[in-house]
Amino acid sequence: MAVSADANDDFLFIDDSEEDEILDDQTSDSWKVLIVDDDPEIHSVTQLALSDLIVLGQRLEYLHAYSGKDACQLIESNDDIVLVLLDVVMETDDAGLNVVKHIREVLTRSDIRIVLRTGQPGYAPEESVIKDYDINDYKTKTELTRRKLVTTVYAAIRSYQQISSVTQNRIGLEKIIRGAGELLELRSVHEYAQGVLSQSQQLAHSGRSLFCARGQGIIDGVDDLNLYILGQDGYSSVLINQGIEKLKDDSAERAITSCFQNKEHQISAESIALYLSSGGYRAVIYIELEQELTEIELQLIEVFLANIAIGYENVHLFQKLRNAAYKDWLTDLPNRLEFVSLLDRFGQTGSSDQVAGLIDINHFSDINDGLGQDLGNQLLIAVTARLKTLSEKCTFARVGADVFGVIGPAEVVNPEHLSALFNQPFGAGEQNLPINACFGLCEKDDAGSRGVNILNQINIALNLAKKNQLEHFVYYKKEMEEQTLWRLGMIRQLRTDFAENRLELWYQPQLSLHTNKVIGAEALLRWRTADGKFISPAVFVPLAEYSGLIIGIGDWVVNQACQQIKTLENNGFDDVSISVNVSIPQFRRTNFVDTVIEATKNHDVEPNKLELEITENILMDDPQMVIDALVRVKAEGISIALDDFGTGYSSLSYLQKLPLDRLKVDRAFVTDIAQPGESMIADTIINLGKQMNLKVIAEGIEDEAQQAHLISQGCDEVQGFFYAKPMPADEFLVFLQNNH
Ligand code: C2E
Ligand code: MG
Ligand code: MG
Repeated sequence: MAVSADANDDFLFIDDSEEDEILDDQTSDSWKVLIVDDDPEIHSVTQLALSDLIVLGQRLEYLHAYSGKDACQLIESNDDIVLVLLDVVMETDDAGLNVVKHIREVLTRSDIRIVLRTGQPGYAPEESVIKDYDINDYKTKTELTRRKLVTTVYAAIRSYQQISSVTQNRIGLEKIIRGAGELLELRSVHEYAQGVLSQSQQLAHSGRSLFCARGQGIIDGVDDLNLYILGQDGYSSVLINQGIEKLKDDSAERAITSCFQNKEHQISAESIALYLSSGGYRAVIYIELEQELTEIELQLIEVFLANIAIGYENVHLFQKLRNAAYKDWLTDLPNRLEFVSLLDRFGQTGSSDQVAGLIDINHFSDINDGLGQDLGNQLLIAVTARLKTLSEKCTFARVGADVFGVIGPAEVVNPEHLSALFNQPFGAGEQNLPINACFGLCEKDDAGSRGVNILNQINIALNLAKKNQLEHFVYYKKEMEEQTLWRLGMIRQLRTDFAENRLELWYQPQLSLHTNKVIGAEALLRWRTADGKFISPAVFVPLAEYSGLIIGIGDWVVNQACQQIKTLENNGFDDVSISVNVSIPQFRRTNFVDTVIEATKNHDVEPNKLELEITENILMDDPQMVIDALVRVKAEGISIALDDFGTGYSSLSYLQKLPLDRLKVDRAFVTDIAQPGESMIADTIINLGKQMNLKVIAEGIEDEAQQAHLISQGCDEVQGFFYAKPMPADEFLVFLQNNH
């Protein structure tokens, strides 16, 4: 075979080729070329003609097949063959063409380049075959001078490389598109960072990698502008949320920092620091390379960065939304929603020395109303700052307007330490405001496992703490919840029963010790439930107060009492007055006094026949408000009695300001009044009443000895089972008729 050994050709070829390269012994990669020919000589001649050829930096390596069948097998078992120099006519006239079909159709290898060679021009394949099977070249064997052969091989391998880089590109792009799509779904910066690292792994021969950005606004509690590690692959997870200096790797740190500062990629043979930026959010992806990046990889990475940048902006926007949803805008503390998830964690993984609590500022609404919302806000910010001084181990949240949440170790989250925070006044604007707080606490061992439940538990404790007059804190215990459930059930029942008119007002006669005549009665609520059982007002009145139901019920009581006064008048008893008990929530309503006055008017009742019984405790909350209301009541001529006197904590100075008509000596001081040495308190109260020019009525008289002692002390009036138990309205009328 006259394959050219033409020196001129060789010379020209070498001269022509700027791309032909000096053989580099280090070049280990090679292009695999399969020579298929039934003529062994063609194999050696071809190999000789192409000897020492380096194409695009790589040698050629030859595989040999002497029949179409062998060729097919070899191609199947060597998936890195790039070029097949293929004889058309071998065992059969179309053996070569069958190989072509096998490559393209059976193996679906579209990247392998094929050069057909034939001994006789007459065997040239159809043009359609060349097109359909993507044949690179068609040559007669006589055309195969070294120069032509080299040119053909060179062109074919270049074409192979272009095809394979397009394929690689396509695969890479597919990954990018899929990856960027996945990244778009991620909602937290940390997840995103981790996702980016695992995606970029697939784009280059890379080793360890890091995702770094400024910590401020991303990592809780970080407010500096240094670079932090948000994601890592191949390093250590303890590096997450740490500054990059924790890497203890100068060159990495330098590359990351200068990438961030110069806003451009830093590329070296060992590593790349990629600059990621979108919508003002910036980050650096640092990747250690196991192999220098190829041009294609670099291009792909650029595309990748462009694709994921929008995702980076998204996670930030999402984080902002999250902050808005989970942070309190005023104090920057976690809000109620976030506190619930913090409690979730406390319930599920917290250690048993942990305590969760609520801190409620007393009378915050007064400050807000009195001094303005701006000052109120400043106060809350000052409280937040003070709370944070408790311990670094505590987490705080703002759960309600004036309610803070706390989770931390029992050694600091306890009534003593929490109270101490409120010892000093708080600066707000020009003011220095002394404030107190109540604490509802729950130890880990008593806590439920779900955040919402725990919040409920602490809330139960807090509500009890608010009512507690001696101490301002309560620890949640399981029994409380049962009580709460029971209370809620009772309240629900009371609401329906009141709406269905099941409440009754009974009357307990009051008598004058001077005349032994009935002078009036105390109206007392009775609740007979559907099953006929009576529930004591001592039980349900506090529930009605707690739930606010007492307002409607109290109105009803006043009106019933007025109606009763009228009924008695109509029956000839025009000197019998009725007292009704009044609770704190009724006073808090601004129109309370008006509704009472209106009731007397509506029923055409002389105001002095109606008496309001208040307890000392009413004064605890807001003495001035109560005093003002009572002065108005009194001005109308309505009488006022101080009930359960001696059991409360009010100071005598307040009592003096009350426009009272009667003092009621509580049953507790009457019970043992006839026993030697036990009458002192009752005697004192009777005396006090006289000195204050008030009538004194004793309640709870059950026997004659008690009555005798009261008479001896000059007590004016009495009420008790000794005379009569509370009774329904119609019975009271009969009682009057019999005892007047
Ligand atoms: P209170 O105002 O001190 O009413 C007196 C209570 O002493 C009544 O209990 C009465 O039945 C009871 N009592 C009277 N004499 C004797 C006696 O000789 N021996 C004993 N053992 N008890 C006697 P009751 O009716 O169970 O009422 C309890 C409390 O419920 C009342 O105490 C009052 O604080 C509250 N209450 C009742 N009705 C109303 C109401 O209409 N409105 C409000 N706000 N509270 C009410
Ligand atoms: Mg009473
Ligand atoms: Mg009483």
